[in-house]
Amino acid sequence: MPHVTYRLHHTVAVITFSSPPVNGLSHAVRSELAAALARATADSGVRTIVLTGGNGLFSGGADIREFGTPAMVREPHLRQLIEMVEMSDKPVIAAITGLCLGGGLELALAAHYRVSSAGARLGLPEVKLGLLPGAGGTQRLPRLVGVEMAISMITSGEPVLATVLAKTALLDRVVDGDPVAAALELATIETGPPRRTRDVPLSEPNLAALCAAARGRLEFRRPRLPAPLRCIDAIEAAARPFDEGLAVERQAFLELMQSPESKALRHAFFAERGAGKIDDLAASTAARPLETAAVIGAGTMGAGITVCFLEAGIPVWLLESDQAALDGGMTRIGGIYDGQIKRGKLGESERNRRMALISPTLSYGSIGQADIVIEAVPESMEIKQSVFTALDRVMKPGAILATNTSTLDVNRIAGFTRRPGDVVGTHFFSPANVMRLLEVVRGTATTPEVLVTAMQLGKRLKKVAVVSGVCDGFIGNRMLEPYLKQAFYLVEEGASPGQVDAAIEAFGVAMGPFRVGDLVGNDVSWAIRQRRRAERPGYLFSTLPDRLCELGRFGQKSGGGWYDYPDGPRNPMASRVVEHLIAAHRAELGLTPRQVSDSEIVDRLVYALVSEGARILTEGIAARASDIDVVYLTGYGFPASRGGPMFHADLIGLENVCRRIGEFAANPHGDPACWTPAPLLASLADSGGSFTGQG
Ligand code: NAD
Repeated sequence: MPHVTYRLHHTVAVITFSSPPVNGLSHAVRSELAAALARATADSGVRTIVLTGGNGLFSGGADIREFGTPAMVREPHLRQLIEMVEMSDKPVIAAITGLCLGGGLELALAAHYRVSSAGARLGLPEVKLGLLPGAGGTQRLPRLVGVEMAISMITSGEPVLATVLAKTALLDRVVDGDPVAAALELATIETGPPRRTRDVPLSEPNLAALCAAARGRLEFRRPRLPAPLRCIDAIEAAARPFDEGLAVERQAFLELMQSPESKALRHAFFAERGAGKIDDLAASTAARPLETAAVIGAGTMGAGITVCFLEAGIPVWLLESDQAALDGGMTRIGGIYDGQIKRGKLGESERNRRMALISPTLSYGSIGQADIVIEAVPESMEIKQSVFTALDRVMKPGAILATNTSTLDVNRIAGFTRRPGDVVGTHFFSPANVMRLLEVVRGTATTPEVLVTAMQLGKRLKKVAVVSGVCDGFIGNRMLEPYLKQAFYLVEEGASPGQVDAAIEAFGVAMGPFRVGDLVGNDVSWAIRQRRRAERPGYLFSTLPDRLCELGRFGQKSGGGWYDYPDGPRNPMASRVVEHLIAAHRAELGLTPRQVSDSEIVDRLVYALVSEGARILTEGIAARASDIDVVYLTGYGFPASRGGPMFHADLIGLENVCRRIGEFAANPHGDPACWTPAPLLASLADSGGSFTGQG
């Protein structure tokens, strides 16, 4: 199918390129664009060329599926196309609407004039993939918007509204109507020779100081990544003759392309987009209508889930067990909005509009017509049973019955109803209105329609939905268990909670396990361990966290946990009480503390995740390794620049991972089963394979 249309408007050739969904500049598009430009150049009747995108946008940029493949450099490559535009003897006007990003903006920067619709957003987001704009963006943008703005746009990767750029030389006109019409009008006025961006001098006397200040700001970013610094190097090189600056940019681009950070960020990008795919479902599987919802339980999670629905404009019946709890839930929801208003993210009238979508109730009789009901009552099978028995009685036929359980058996919960096919797990993460991850737990009986509807609901609530099979903890919390096991064993062996947290945070994880425990409440995992001890004979887990809970040190909510918080929640301080507790615990175990290195901490924590991830894959709990990565990237603060635990293991090399696991297996302390190699990990290591097909 042709991607480019060519039409003549008097003496103007209007070239429109189109490649859904975002007009990516794939090789096919580039070839057709080059041919259209050549045709316009050759046609003596054409005086001006207008270049624009179809589908309501200019372009989302280069086709990143081509990155690292021969298609990326197949001629005409993007830099050649851009040079063709810039060197054209006939003026080229870019007519911009919607989005103009990455390679799309680099193409527009080479045009001689740019006209944009007011609502268009323009940006160079390459840094978010660990790269820099590699087709002249670092050289042309500073010439048109100035060094300061170019640094901000290129190192943040954030798009900027056309109206903000209207005063810069980047945009000749910003219009409310159709930018192509405005471009055609401009074509009748501007008759001079083409203005080439490469010939615009970079006039910034404070270039060195601005670049130094920007580098200084990046020093404080965590994790520290190479790409933003290389962006600044390239922008600074824009003061040199144009072709020299381009060469600096090119070299940096090629090096960054090979960097582990960029490989990881690109993996994360594709992993997230692939997470919604369910291989064994017919493409024709239709979702059920979903216009109304009910939430059972207005505690921490129920309140957050309700806010998610309200933001999507979906009315909610909110059901509680008594009036005081219901009032408490409404106050909690109001509190979430108060916070948003304080931060200037929401207005009073919008808050009132959203709150009006809630129908608080104490009666199951009033919620029966909801299309979906999400249960968020305490994590106890007895309470879940009473709720699902009631739901089975009152909900209309076809309603979806969802549970937010973190660890309980969704199949058993489905068994409390006479319609197990309508039951699914929708596992939100706390705070539910903020965290992007949604684990959709597919029960043995869950019907394809219910699964598809739950996945689509994820999208509507602006979540990243990942399918998990049924097991204790699903993908994320199941992997967390061996991770936490190692954290506690490490402390028993000699590390302090502060050292463990600092080591894994230096690796890039947003928050270490002890700080997380104090934040979410150490009593939550205590209750889960008590259940597991009762259910699993021979269950092995350090008793250190139980002893902490026995002291009432549940975390921030009880004034202290692993840490003390004399200066507030943001400032955890080592606790004398905990130091004594740990010393007494080690003495009871007969352990003499040893020096534990930071690298041992990181490897034990991360490889515990990897080993369990491998088992999860073998059991089919996760469909693909990249889904596991998405769960950890979006729900557990794993650093995107590491690509997720499975991708990270691939980069290290599975043979190396297995060798290190073998060393840990020789450690006499802890649970020996932890380091029995997962069969999939061992066989991939033997065959030189990888989890994600990369590495
Ligand atoms: P919570 O204790 O904050 O809230 C539970 C609410 O349910 C309370 O308001 C309580 O009054 C209400 N309730 C109790 N029995 C009820 C009944 N029979 N009918 C109606 N309401 C009833 O608990 P939470 O932290 O919001 O957790 C709820 C569920 O979400 C649990 O299954 C939990 O495992 C899961 N979960 C929690 C988190 C988290 O971080 N808190 C994260 C993911 C999933």
